[in-house]
Amino acid sequence: MDKVLSQNIRTVCRALLDSKYTARDVTKHALKQIDDTKELNAFITITHKIAIESADRSSENYQMKKPRSELEGIPIAIKDNFCTKNVKTTCGSKMLEHFIPPYNATVCQRLFDAGAVLVGKTNLDEFAMGSGTVDSIYGVTKNVWGSSKGSTDFYIAGGSSGGSAVAVATGSCFGAFGSDTGGSTRNPASYCGLVGLKPTYGLISRLGLIPLVNSMDVPGILTRTVDDCVSLLNATAGPDPKDSTCITKPYTKLRIPPADKLSIKNLKIGIPKEYACEYLDNEVLHTWNEIASFLENSGAHVIEVEMPHTELSIVCYSILNQCEVASNMARYDGVQYGFRANEETSTEKLYAKTRSIGFNDVVKHRILTGNYFLLTRNYERYFEKALKLRRLIATDFDNVFEKVQILLTPTTLTTAPLYSEFITKSNSEQCSQQDYCTQPANMAGIPAVSIPIKLSSAGLPISLQLMGRNFSEPTLLALAKFIENEVKFPHIVEKIL
Ligand code: GLN
Repeated sequence: MDKVLSQNIRTVCRALLDSKYTARDVTKHALKQIDDTKELNAFITITHKIAIESADRSSENYQMKKPRSELEGIPIAIKDNFCTKNVKTTCGSKMLEHFIPPYNATVCQRLFDAGAVLVGKTNLDEFAMGSGTVDSIYGVTKNVWGSSKGSTDFYIAGGSSGGSAVAVATGSCFGAFGSDTGGSTRNPASYCGLVGLKPTYGLISRLGLIPLVNSMDVPGILTRTVDDCVSLLNATAGPDPKDSTCITKPYTKLRIPPADKLSIKNLKIGIPKEYACEYLDNEVLHTWNEIASFLENSGAHVIEVEMPHTELSIVCYSILNQCEVASNMARYDGVQYGFRANEETSTEKLYAKTRSIGFNDVVKHRILTGNYFLLTRNYERYFEKALKLRRLIATDFDNVFEKVQILLTPTTLTTAPLYSEFITKSNSEQCSQQDYCTQPANMAGIPAVSIPIKLSSAGLPISLQLMGRNFSEPTLLALAKFIENEVKFPHIVEKIL
């Protein structure tokens, strides 16, 4: 039975339909797996009761041969920055430690309506600001790869959606939602050996995703296979009248043909040379070249392309991020939501004390610098300039997509760093190295997917990224599946079950 947890969603759905086991069995196994791997600290809240109740409802639907979708009875997890009705939603922060939302994020509501079973809310860097899942009040999330039980050092899971990634990698659920503002879904996907999709901005509603950078945030999907990713995308994408930045055209469900029916003949794939930057690890570079040759040999046209503004993306992202963070975080003042400090002398002092105790240093630092960039005297010099630069970065993509359909790059410059090394750097240094390859897609709003390719000589996942023009998910995911079928990445869940 344990093998069930390592299968893909469609196979489990079929087995449930054939009454090989019940949805309650599957959920119980997922909950046991969460318990067996709790040392990795992937979850902030485990929703036992909700999970069993919804699994029982799914079992009834299967008995009547009426599953609501292929997600009926499938255990999933959600990053703890998506609002879940009556379930604590903390953002990994003291500020929201006791926050219980009165409504579901659209993503969650759609997953529940499709029959998915919520097993828990996952760990993240506070308010999704980070690239390691090392900055949560609930502690660090450890990568399942390379971690030996009880050891003091370990590899980081990546971030900020590290909890979601580890939950999927360990087989504690079949898929999980993260968020992606500058790479937070693709980065942990890369380090944990998963498929990580950052969809086109606006394809999936942001309603109920607690905002970090509204103009870049997207819900992201973490799964072990491309098909599972498609299942979660199909359940959640499409217009949402409550999110004005969401698409308004109806979404057509995506079906990717079986791998042996896929052809990439004449597909034009670009290799942007700027991504081969100074800190790129040799093994990652080698893997990138190998896959480029494989695609070329399979009938694609692989050509080198130029994207001259790539290097500036990190500094531009960082300014825009801090400016939007400064205004987004203003809502946490001890009056409306969340933590309230014990301070009765004046309203200003209440705000100050609440915010100084409620936020960690990373959040406070971003609020301060963001407000500095937004001062009347600095606005033009920093914020406006960064906006112009963002346009140039997006134009690089527009130009390159006239020549090629897809870009192939590394997702991260290295494999997962060791925790002891990672925390010697400041949060901004961590992000500027970890997110070099991922942030440009958020600036342009385009879709990108990280796919695991192979294990490094140290036994850690190496992943590559595909990017395409807006709404090119069908091509992107078909190519991802083509590569997945060739590389047959050895998922760890089979080893640890
Ligand atoms: N590491 C980036 C940051 O901290 C990206 C975060 C994210 O995508 N949520 O801003």
